[in-house]
Amino acid sequence: MLLPNPIPTQFISHSFLEEKGIELAIKRLDLVHPEVSGNKFFKLRYNLEKAKSQGKSSILTFGGAFSNHIYATSEAAKAEGLESIGIIRGEKTEPLNATLAHAEQLGMQLHFIDRKSYREKSTADFLNSLTEEFGDFYLIPEGGTNELAIKGTQEIFDLEDQQFSYICSSIGTGGTFAGLYTSLASHQKLLGFSSLKGEFIHQEISELLEKHQLSSNGSYGIFTNYHFGGYAKHKQELIDFIWWFYENFGIVLDPIYTGKMAFGVWDLIKKDYFFKGSKILMIHSGGLQGNMGFTERTGFKLPTLSG
Ligand SMILES: *Cc1c(COP(=O)(O)O)cnc(C)c1O
Repeated sequence: MLLPNPIPTQFISHSFLEEKGIELAIKRLDLVHPEVSGNKFFKLRYNLEKAKSQGKSSILTFGGAFSNHIYATSEAAKAEGLESIGIIRGEKTEPLNATLAHAEQLGMQLHFIDRKSYREKSTADFLNSLTEEFGDFYLIPEGGTNELAIKGTQEIFDLEDQQFSYICSSIGTGGTFAGLYTSLASHQKLLGFSSLKGEFIHQEISELLEKHQLSSNGSYGIFTNYHFGGYAKHKQELIDFIWWFYENFGIVLDPIYTGKMAFGVWDLIKKDYFFKGSKILMIHSGGLQGNMGFTERTGFKLPTLSG
């Protein structure tokens, strides 16, 4: 069973924060495990345990060509002695990008499907055809969100985190957000920063909470105005912020999730969203493996080493 390293929480000091009377810290899930970084570690943990207890020898999951989930699944499966199969959206391009090359090197069997078939990936017909092709596998959905993933992310907090009044996290599918939400204390508010464009995420989160019957002692809010154009989109302003953050605090962020969240938090502090004396905890959910691929894809250089 994958075991986490102790997760450091790092306070960030800056004259601007002093002026505003804000204490800001970041919980470094990017350091949670030598290979399986970030929230994906927590999301995969109990799923792999279940796969093993069911006697499965392989994990099958889905993702895009730069997916943190694909990368983490290949690492976690290998660490647990399981085979892994990655169903990748889109055509195979060679040489493989850094994410896929790494996954393949760890033994993940990559299988590319066109975008139309990919949209039908959850239908019974399609899943049956996968079973015919790959045998009896343990299925993890795209992005990794399911009941056991949420159970895993409920373990991100520890007692010391109760000192914070706000917890800030990025949102993709919302699985991590849901797990964090259920573990809040009554004086805490969880703020989610959607990395996707659109208001649909409000509904998606409430459906997710309802489906898994999750409740909380705390409260939550979601920001949908820090997506920078949408998932995997970016703007110069975001890249500049990621560099600025790195140069000031020595912490690497990614442009898909954590960069947008941290930008949002900083912006909200500027706008006096938080009252003086607030203690804010940002969740660094990892995802730094994608920075190399982002540079390959866009030409924008990003910091890549987490210090
Ligand atoms: C996958 C991922 C997220 C989103 O997690 P969800 O549980 O899908 O909301 C956030 N940050 C990083 C770095 C990720 O890799």
